[in-house]
Amino acid sequence: MADDNSAQDDQSLRAMAWRGLAGRCPRCGQGSLFAGFLKVAPRCENCGRDFSAADSADGPAFFVMSFAGFVVVVAALVVEILFQPPYWLHALLWIPLILAMTLLPLRPAKGLLIALQFHHKAAEGRLAGGDRP
Ligand SMILES: [Zn+2]
Repeated sequence: MADDNSAQDDQSLRAMAWRGLAGRCPRCGQGSLFAGFLKVAPRCENCGRDFSAADSADGPAFFVMSFAGFVVVVAALVVEILFQPPYWLHALLWIPLILAMTLLPLRPAKGLLIALQFHHKAAEGRLAGGDRP
């Protein structure tokens, strides 16, 4: 564990969101949140925070895909209306752009959503009174 506890003690929404965007542990900001490109690590190697409850599901992909799709479709329509380029030029323009606009922000978006889950203590719903039905 790091000696500087002042940074670790900052559990504000802003601090945790920045740590998530950077792919760092939402609690301490030192350990990595990810064990691969999008695979969440089992726990923080610095503070030991368990990441097993972190489940952003399709949330990051939905937000990234919606934003990128809107931008690229509008741009393609504007270019088509103004310049009527051949289809191969459309492919040359929009395929790399859509790949960049979806793959690059996906990891920070996932880190952000996981950090927000930890900040707001999001968990699966439980029945009051324990496990009894
Ligand atoms: Zn940590």
